[in-house]
Amino acid sequence: DASLGAIDPEIAAVVDDELNRQRSTLEMIASENFVPRAVLEAQGSVLTNKYAEGYPGRRYYGGCEFVDVAEELAIDRAKSLFGAAYANVQPHSGASANAAVMHAFARPGDGLLGLDLAHGGHLTHGMKLNFSGRLFDVSTYEVDPQTYRVDMDMVRERALAHRPKVIVAGWSAYPRQLDFEAFRAIADEVGAALWVDMAHFAGLVAAGLHPNPVPLADVVSSTVHKTIGGPRSGFILSRDEANAKKLNSAVFPGQQGGPLMHVVAAKAVAFKLAASQEFKDRQERTVRGARLLAERLLASDVAQAGASVLTGGTDVHLVLVDLRESALDGKQAEDLLHEIGITVNRNAVPFDPRPPMVTSGLRIGTPALATRGFGDAEFAEVADVIAEALKPGADAQALRGRVAKLTADFPLYDGLEQY
Ligand code: PLP
Repeated sequence: DASLGAIDPEIAAVVDDELNRQRSTLEMIASENFVPRAVLEAQGSVLTNKYAEGYPGRRYYGGCEFVDVAEELAIDRAKSLFGAAYANVQPHSGASANAAVMHAFARPGDGLLGLDLAHGGHLTHGMKLNFSGRLFDVSTYEVDPQTYRVDMDMVRERALAHRPKVIVAGWSAYPRQLDFEAFRAIADEVGAALWVDMAHFAGLVAAGLHPNPVPLADVVSSTVHKTIGGPRSGFILSRDEANAKKLNSAVFPGQQGGPLMHVVAAKAVAFKLAASQEFKDRQERTVRGARLLAERLLASDVAQAGASVLTGGTDVHLVLVDLRESALDGKQAEDLLHEIGITVNRNAVPFDPRPPMVTSGLRIGTPALATRGFGDAEFAEVADVIAEALKPGADAQALRGRVAKLTADFPLYDGLEQY
């Protein structure tokens, strides 16, 4: 018996335990999702055996005739989904896509202007320990202290003062849409390239529920595993072919060696599914669920006790709960929800007085539950369970029961084999 269960029972047990965890809890980490069975199959296939350095039709290895088909399909589907003239589907992750973007558009020492990490930006947008902060001359913009929306006056001031080579618009923790036109105008004014990192909201863009940055940006990067719900990986798009050569060369050989062809094939599957009506419905349930969550939390006793929702709501797939005025901190709130089977992550809010390991915020996302099939009624119930759980003296036993009912009503990976 050469199966995983027979060869390595310890790892087989990890896979089983993780499947059971995913089935029996409510996954509300905003950057997570559940891939369809077809993606699991492609990603678990023999394509993992193949070396394919280079690009379709121009490989440094023989025997690439079939993996070429997979990569061509992934490229064509990505282009058509987002209205791009260029796509590179080889980046292993969002971070490696972003490294390639900077490699293509700047040299070490050049300026990069991005949203401050503490205000919702990503590590790869200039955090000091990240390649982006180590190799580039980083300046940051922030959200407005009254509205908590990105302060476009500050973006312009910082751009004029620092004259960055690249301006990045994108976020990991922000509940609103960015004004890509305004970013474009500022980039043009200072002669910078505009890079949009749509890792979080790409699924909403594909479904037509969020403005598409592709026509306005010089380059767009993304992950495939967040709202899109595909395999863990990244990709890069551009509205024209002008930067194709330098972007391709920045990915390979600039950042990576052989592409992960099993993941490239799984990306093709994810992009195919993302063009369907079912995908669109799912993204609609995702956004409506996040709105319901914000509304119900704001109307609950938890809001009476000092919790609020940054910007007063959301336009996307996540809600940022602001606990600065609450006795509960982010860590305690995360633990309380964990205890009843709801997985979220604590997250610093802008101007957070508490330390980063504690924080005064929660980031709560709806993509994974929408994939599980949740609609308005279920999201309303989840919102009420969360509001109850964060109240002092909550009945954890009863809340665990309500979570168990939801997970039982929406089975996940039904029939998937266990070891
Ligand atoms: N860009 C943004 C905006 C993100 O939120 C993330 C992931 O958190 C990434 C890039 C990086 O993606 P990965 O974790 O695949 O490297």
